[in-house]
Amino acid sequence: MTSNRLAGRCLCGGVSFSVDAEAFDNRTACHCSQCRRWSGHVWASVSGPKAKFAIDAGEDKVKWHHASDFARRGFCADCGSSLFWHAHGLEEYKDRIAVAFGALDAPTGVKLEEHIFVADKGDYYDIADGLPQSHH
Ligand SMILES: [Zn+2]
Ligand SMILES: [Zn+2]
Repeated sequence: MTSNRLAGRCLCGGVSFSVDAEAFDNRTACHCSQCRRWSGHVWASVSGPKAKFAIDAGEDKVKWHHASDFARRGFCADCGSSLFWHAHGLEEYKDRIAVAFGALDAPTGVKLEEHIFVADKGDYYDIADGLPQSHH
């Protein structure tokens, strides 16, 4: 049985990646100020085990920005697309990775499930889709 993969790429196409669709079952939109600055608005992602994630092309183009002591953010050095979030410094998260929902090829067949860090959201929009909201 072949696993169902979700594939994605950056804007210029230099970096492509894929994840196992079933294992990447945490689908959130993060409203924290770091994610908003990094992505330009809300950073929506799917996360799952790093073992079920692969950079299929352009690994040399991925640059990692160490935004905090425990997390790094991966982006394409050529086009700047925000692609990956990896909390390498947190024991419970270091073996997981989040990939940009918006970078995935359509149809994804999956839906956003939760808004996180909503206490930190911007004042220029409302969250009105009825999904659960978490403060962390
Ligand atoms: Zn690119
Ligand atoms: Zn965030």
